[in-house]
Amino acid sequence: MNFLLPFIAVLLGAGAAMLFKSPAANRMKLLLAFSGAFLLSSVASEFLPEIYEDGDSTMGIYLIAGVFIQIILEFFSKGAEHGHLHVSKEIQQFPYLLFSSLCLHAFLEGMPLQGHGGMVYGISIHKIPIAFIFASFLLNSTMSRWKSIAILLLFAVMSPLGSLLASEMSFFDAYMTPIKAIVAGIVLHVSTTLILESSEAHKFNLAKILVMLTGAVLGFLV
Ligand SMILES: [Zn+2]
Ligand SMILES: [Zn+2]
Repeated sequence: MNFLLPFIAVLLGAGAAMLFKSPAANRMKLLLAFSGAFLLSSVASEFLPEIYEDGDSTMGIYLIAGVFIQIILEFFSKGAEHGHLHVSKEIQQFPYLLFSSLCLHAFLEGMPLQGHGGMVYGISIHKIPIAFIFASFLLNSTMSRWKSIAILLLFAVMSPLGSLLASEMSFFDAYMTPIKAIVAGIVLHVSTTLILESSEAHKFNLAKILVMLTGAVLGFLV
């Protein structure tokens, strides 16, 4: 069941994009801020303690490597993981690089998810806005609806596929802590960017602070 949560989250986000055509920018920002705080709190309370309990300080290198992997992925995804995807009607060609980098991100973060209650929720919740944004991008393009749905399904299976592969192949068992550290780096970068970019010019915004606090508390509790 836990395997399927990230998949369900993508369906949820994509389904919402089909129902509500144009997202209200403000509400979207609140959702992004909430998912960022939730994700950051899950990684801080679950992944980080586990990584340093099972591994030594060299795990820090993998963590930093994860941050850089995500920076590189964002050159191609243009920040779609944290809500930057401008819906433009003029896309001539399907953005293969953007899609591949989103899939790689999803696949990697699925790998260390077996048996992780809190983390699986954090990852799943941050997929809802991504799926929403990506689905509205596809639906507003000239692409046929069936092709859009097939692409969304392909994206949705990426994280469960990562989890399945990592749990079925005993080869990965020996490397689970470094993999977890890399994913922690990826997720740290995404979650802090989600929080940073959801606020305009560091203006005080009570609603945003409240949703972030709620996200952080929930991420800690689950
Ligand atoms: Zn960005
Ligand atoms: Zn992610």
